[in-house]
Amino acid sequence: MAKIIAEMVVEKVTPEALDVKTLLLRWPEGYDVEVKTGQFVTVFWPDTPTYKRAYSLSSCALDRGFFEVTVKREGKMGTRIVDWVKAGDRLGVLPPAGRFLPVYEPDRHLICIAGGSGVTPFRGFAREATRRSLSTRVTVLYSVRRPADIIFREEFEELARQNPNFVFHVTCTRLAPDDSWSGHHGRITSQWVRSHVGDPARTVFYACGPNALVDFAERLVLEDLHMPKEQMKLEKWG
Ligand SMILES: Cc1cc2nc3c(=O)[nH]c(=O)nc-3n(C[C@H](O)[C@H](O)[C@H](O)COP(=O)(O)OP(=O)(O)OC[C@H]3O[C@@H](n4cnc5c(N)ncnc54)[C@H](O)[C@@H]3O)c2cc1C
Repeated sequence: MAKIIAEMVVEKVTPEALDVKTLLLRWPEGYDVEVKTGQFVTVFWPDTPTYKRAYSLSSCALDRGFFEVTVKREGKMGTRIVDWVKAGDRLGVLPPAGRFLPVYEPDRHLICIAGGSGVTPFRGFAREATRRSLSTRVTVLYSVRRPADIIFREEFEELARQNPNFVFHVTCTRLAPDDSWSGHHGRITSQWVRSHVGDPARTVFYACGPNALVDFAERLVLEDLHMPKEQMKLEKWG
């Protein structure tokens, strides 16, 4: 179908963590595009149509009628969205694009390495796998500073309860004395990642987010774990 640019109403704005909000963008009447879990949409404000930025879908391909994107307050567009967007606003949206796609094959294990807001597409990965009762294993290894920074904590924990093939692990890097946290702490290490790998040949690694995190994950998987490049998919935000 033709590449249509649509104007979508922001139906709901959900604060997820400090400086992070999820926008539910309602499709307009008659809008019907192909969506794949893991893709991104490109968004602009109607008053500045030449300033466009990409946002990974935090919703999944089974979510028809709306897109969800989860935005961190960073840079010009991220700040404008998080500080100013409200329900009822309209945003221009280009159709979904991108090849950061989950390989939902029965005997695969998808290990998704995320830091901070880079976890956004992995909610889509886990949602689709759970709703379709897939046997593909999905493991999210997620690094945040403090427990309060965990995005989608409740939904990930609920998906993990529903789906025996989905595992959600968080490591906190900068715990404060008053944080209540009995889970893993420290940065993502090759030992931690390796401890979640069952059959290396069936594993596909994913990393998404700011370049520094993605480069770190790439080195860890290719150099420390000696996995081939073909078993790793990267989505760099810049
Ligand atoms: C495929 C793709 C998917 C993406 N998905 C998401 C997503 O799901 N969620 C999300 O939040 N973002 C996502 N991004 C990033 C997003 O597109 C924007 O780049 C981001 O919101 C920053 O807005 P900007 O580009 O207008 O920032 P600019 O103002 O152009 O700044 C660009 C970068 O410079 C740095 N920068 C700018 N100002 C400062 C400052 N004052 N101090 C320090 N550093 C600064 C930031 O790192 C910023 O990202 C994605 C990007 C890509 C390419």
